Amino acid sequence: MSDLILIIEDDAAIAALLERSLKQHHYQTLHVSTLKEARLQLQTHTPQLILLDLGLPDGDGKSFIPHLRRSLQTPIIVVSARREEREIVAALDLGADDYVTKPFSLVELMARVRRAQRRASMVGDDSEVLTCNGLILDLERHRFMLEEMPIKLTPIEFNLMRLFMSHPDQVLTHQHILKQVWGIGYQQEMQYLRSYINTLRKKIETDTARPRYIQTELGIGYRFCCHHEGVL
Ligand code: CA
Repeated sequence: MSDLILIIEDDAAIAALLERSLKQHHYQTLHVSTLKEARLQLQTHTPQLILLDLGLPDGDGKSFIPHLRRSLQTPIIVVSARREEREIVAALDLGADDYVTKPFSLVELMARVRRAQRRASMVGDDSEVLTCNGLILDLERHRFMLEEMPIKLTPIEFNLMRLFMSHPDQVLTHQHILKQVWGIGYQQEMQYLRSYINTLRKKIETDTARPRYIQTELGIGYRFCCHHEGVL
C-alpha cells in the first residue's frame, strides 16, 4: 500500500495543489483544514508524513507539533510563508523536520518529502561510523576522512560534523546547533557558529562559495546535504 500523507492546510487552492501532485507521485493523501480535524483523523489514521501549515483557523500549527511529538515520530514538514521566518525556526526547534516556503516549487516539495521519508527509515541507526558522500566520521577512533584523506578537526569541528552527519539532509536551526555543540547559554552566539562553518567549509568543500555539503538556509540555519538529487 502506498504511503499516506496528512495535509493540514486551510487554503483550499494550496491543499488541492498538494493533493494533486502527491497523488501523481503515488502517495495517498488526507486533507484537513483545522487542527481539530487533524486530531480527529489521527485517531484513526497513521500517516507516514505530515505537511503542516502554520496559520490555521483554530490555532497555530506550531503549537500542534509538541502535541504530535508526544505520540508520533512521523516526519513533519512545515509549509509556510517566507515572512514567517521566525515561526519556521520555532517550528523546527519544536520538532518539525523540515520546511518549505510558499510559494513553493512542486519539484522541491517532492524532494523534501522523499528526504524526510529516507531519514525516517534511517532512524535507529546508531553506528559508530557516520558516512556521507565521500566523508567518513569515525566516532570511536575520533577520525575524519574526505575521499580517504584524513582531515584534522578541532573538538568543536568534530562535534559539529557529528551533529551534521547524524542528521543528513535535515535543516538544523542556528539555536539548535549552538545548543547541541556549545551548550546551553550559547544559543545567541551566531558569530561562533558562522566562523566555525567557514573553517569547516574550507576543509571539506571544493568551492566554498558554492558549498556542496554545508548549505546555508537563510535566516534559519544550515542543512548538511548527503544526497544530491540535482534539483535542489
Ligand atoms: Ca494558512
